Amino acid sequence: MKFVETNDLSEVQSDIQSNIRGRMLNESESFEFRCHPGVSCFNLCCRNLNFFLNPYDVIRLKQNLEISSSEFIEKYTDIIVRPGHHFPDVLLRMADNAEKTCPFLTEAGCRVYPDRPYTCRAFPVEHGLYYDAGKNQTRLVHFFRPPDFCQGRHEKTAWTLSSWEADQVAAFYNQMTVRWAEVARLFQNDPFEGEGPNGQKGKMAFMAVYNIDAFRDFVLNSSFLKRYKVKPQLRMKIKSDDVAMLKLGMAWIRMFLFDVKVGEITLKR
Ligand code: SF4
Ligand code: SF4
Repeated sequence: MKFVETNDLSEVQSDIQSNIRGRMLNESESFEFRCHPGVSCFNLCCRNLNFFLNPYDVIRLKQNLEISSSEFIEKYTDIIVRPGHHFPDVLLRMADNAEKTCPFLTEAGCRVYPDRPYTCRAFPVEHGLYYDAGKNQTRLVHFFRPPDFCQGRHEKTAWTLSSWEADQVAAFYNQMTVRWAEVARLFQNDPFEGEGPNGQKGKMAFMAVYNIDAFRDFVLNSSFLKRYKVKPQLRMKIKSDDVAMLKLGMAWIRMFLFDVKVGEITLKR
């Protein structure tokens, strides 16, 4: 994911194009591609990846594996704080073998396929995030970027962005990615002051979006609900619905760290 901050996308389009290999796609443009088990490169793209996971990716993967979010983070991810960043990134840890394969790759293919992360779902389309400062809105921009070894790019099946999204069942992933990006963008302004992202507030914020089961435990078994009023429809769902919990987590970060007024949660007087 990349942030592109501007008032006018056309001003930076050529700059984006010269810095990012691939073809930028608008809604009406098509691209040709097909991936199937008969291609000579089958599964070659599932190895040696710098693979960033969004909070919603973690929810889907831990549900698929039937483990808690804590176990998932411990077993399958590396957490890094990049220089100049104020919130950690969560990377899928590749297997400790010569080819550094994805931990979910098996001889039969992807073992988490119905819940594969957003990056896999969209591939070979990659997404950047365009922040329209004028409208104060974040939206996705799309690039067709198959790597050279990808033979699927020689196939003749034509797609638009919307038919590809429908084929890959990616619409909700798109929504949740933009929603998270709008929160993640706020961390460009350091909310932790001297404490840094590894301080108490940083750990709480990380838990609120990436460690959903621990956040649920915290919300339901601490004074949280005495201190904050949670919108009734959301409160009803958080006991059992991970997406509702993530929505609460994102809203809480906006309010708690950045003093943004949100509809989901308010401080009790
Ligand atoms: S999650 Fe599945 S599709 Fe994605 S890289 Fe791993 S094996 Fe491949
Ligand atoms: S490299 Fe391209 S064609 Fe080959 S398996 Fe991956 S997506 Fe499919």
